Amino acid sequence: MDAIVQALLFWIASNSQHSVDNIKPPEIVFMSAAQITSEYYAAHRELIPDNGIDERIWALYDAETTSSGTIYLRVDEFKAREKVTTSTALRGTTFIQAPNSDNSLASMHQNTASNAQLLEDNPILTERLLHELVHHVQFQTGATKTYPCPAFGEKEAYLLGQRYFKQRHIEDPFPNRRFWAHVYSRC
Ligand SMILES: [Zn+2]
Repeated sequence: MDAIVQALLFWIASNSQHSVDNIKPPEIVFMSAAQITSEYYAAHRELIPDNGIDERIWALYDAETTSSGTIYLRVDEFKAREKVTTSTALRGTTFIQAPNSDNSLASMHQNTASNAQLLEDNPILTERLLHELVHHVQFQTGATKTYPCPAFGEKEAYLLGQRYFKQRHIEDPFPNRRFWAHVYSRC
């Protein structure tokens, strides 16, 4: 994990005005859809959807819970896909373990080698981590203090994501990204 985070921090430094020389890597926590929904609505539990999942939440950054910040990444969809591939190869049939079972949650936290592999294999997931790392760098360098509002940093985070996909020759899964980057960063 550390190597991936370090590589992404260097990527941010060479594709933006930010220096990452004094940036402490954040803690990365891998979560199911239900867990990340619960984290997002921690202060407003009455707003959690009835099924416990807000499908729009893929990743979160919390600058202040720990001294070096925390990034939450939703990984269950990638885990499920991996299981399908493995079981198909082995048995010729498809079996998906329920992503919210206790076993799979425990392995999400403990199996960091496999989480690193998940990031290696899934650039879409890696770009979500990159997006939150941009916010981490914006916060730790003090750039956010100069922003007219907290949303301002979204523009840079979304546009760097676009550049990341372009450099890796991967089709951007986010249509009209420039438009939304503008909308999301409006103060
Ligand atoms: Zn963002």
